[in-house]
Amino acid sequence: MTGTVDPRIASARALLAEDHQPITMTPDELWHLLARTQRRVHELLELLDELWISSRAPAAERARRAAELLAEVPQSQRASNPEGDYASVLADLLANIGDDSAAAVRDWLRAARRLALTGPQREVQAQALGDAVTYRESGCDRACADCGTAPSGLCADHEADMDKADSYRALARTLGIEADL
Ligand SMILES: [Zn+2]
Repeated sequence: MTGTVDPRIASARALLAEDHQPITMTPDELWHLLARTQRRVHELLELLDELWISSRAPAAERARRAAELLAEVPQSQRASNPEGDYASVLADLLANIGDDSAAAVRDWLRAARRLALTGPQREVQAQALGDAVTYRESGCDRACADCGTAPSGLCADHEADMDKADSYRALARTLGIEADL
């Protein structure tokens, strides 16, 4: 974040870092310090307005965004007591931050869920990939006439079958399937 600090924040920090002894200051000096302090506070409030209020949608819109986001969170990730329900707290926060924040996180959650299968679904997936590997490799066990004349011992069709079987195994590994394929 260094180098990107808003000058108004830097100015306020610089003022706070100054060392003043009010008891020894003249009324003029005190007045000047007060004026500078007020100016810094004003700038910080201006910054807060820019960051927060201007990006705020109406309450109903924010509530709709938060609800839409929360609908993507699995029940297993929710807590029964509202104070411990971080999904709800974060959904509210994200809906407040900006127009696109809640929508972006909602889309991430949807994408993640497309990959997430239940236990039985994973078993079916592992079985299907295992069957596909077996099917492709079974052809290669019965070498054809073309295989007999090919230098590698496999014709183009049977070579392609082997490649497909390999790609099914690679997909299984990617999906974290611990089957013996
Ligand atoms: Zn062949």
